[in-house]
Amino acid sequence: MGQITLSSITKSFGDVNVIPPLDLTINDGEFVVFVGPSGCGKSTLLRLIAGLEDISSGKIEIDGRDATDAAPAERGLAMVFQSYALYPHMSVRKNIAFPLKMAKMPQAEQDRKVENAARILNLSSYLDRRPGQLSGGQRQRVAIGRAIVREPAAFLFDEPLSNLDAALRVTMRQEISELHQTLKTTMIYVTHDQVEAMTMADKIVVLNAGRIEQVGSPLELYRSPRNLFVAGFIGSPK
Ligand code: ADP
Ligand code: MG
Repeated sequence: MGQITLSSITKSFGDVNVIPPLDLTINDGEFVVFVGPSGCGKSTLLRLIAGLEDISSGKIEIDGRDATDAAPAERGLAMVFQSYALYPHMSVRKNIAFPLKMAKMPQAEQDRKVENAARILNLSSYLDRRPGQLSGGQRQRVAIGRAIVREPAAFLFDEPLSNLDAALRVTMRQEISELHQTLKTTMIYVTHDQVEAMTMADKIVVLNAGRIEQVGSPLELYRSPRNLFVAGFIGSPK
C-alpha cells in the first residue's frame, strides 16, 4: 500500500498552466521529497495528489485504483499541516482524535489509536494538555499524530517545519525520518530547502516551473545532475 502513479497530469488556473504534463511514480514505502524554488508548483502538485485541487487532465492512481475523481477522504492519504493548524481550545487527545471523531469511530477504538500514536511520538504524558502548553516541536508532533491515527497509505507534508526555528527544524527532520523508519509508510515531503531534501529523501524530485528537471536519490543528483538548474539547486559540481 502507498504506491502513487501520476500519468500526464496537468493543472491550469484559468489560462495559466502551472503543471505541464507530468509523469511520476512513487513507490510503496518511499520517502519522496519535492524540492524547488518558491512558486515552482510543489504545493499545487501535493494538493493535486491529495485531491484538494482537481487536475485539469491526466490520471492519478493510488495502489492500482483510479483515484482521479476520488474525494480527498476517499484517497487514503493524510496531509500533515503546520503545527498552527491545531485547535487551541482542544486537548492534545482531542486534537489527535479529531479525524476519527469525524469518521464516527467507536470511542474505545479512537482511544486505542490515539494512545498508540502518542506512544510513537513520545506524547503520552501530554495528552491532556492544550497546544498552548506545549513546545513548538511537541505541537508539530501533535499535528503528525492527527495524520498517524488515520493509518494512511501515504503521508503528505507541505513545508511542515518552515515556521520552526533552525535548531528545532533539525530535530524535527530527524524525528520525521525516524517516524518513516518506524511506520515504513510512503511519505511525500515538500520543501524549498536543499539540505532537508538531501538529508531526508530516498528519492528527490527537482521541480522547476511545474516541470520535473530530475528524479533520483540524493547521491545520484549530487554526482550526476542532469543540467545546470539541478546542479545549482542541489549545490553539486557541474
Ligand atoms: P510552491 O509551493 O512551489 O511555492 P505553488 O504550487 O504554491 O508553488 O504555486 C505554483 C504556481 O501556481 C504559482 O505561480 C502560483 O501563483 C500559482 N497558483 C497556485 N495556486 C493558485 C490558485 N489557486 N489560483 C491561481 N494560481 C495559483
Ligand atoms: Mg508551497
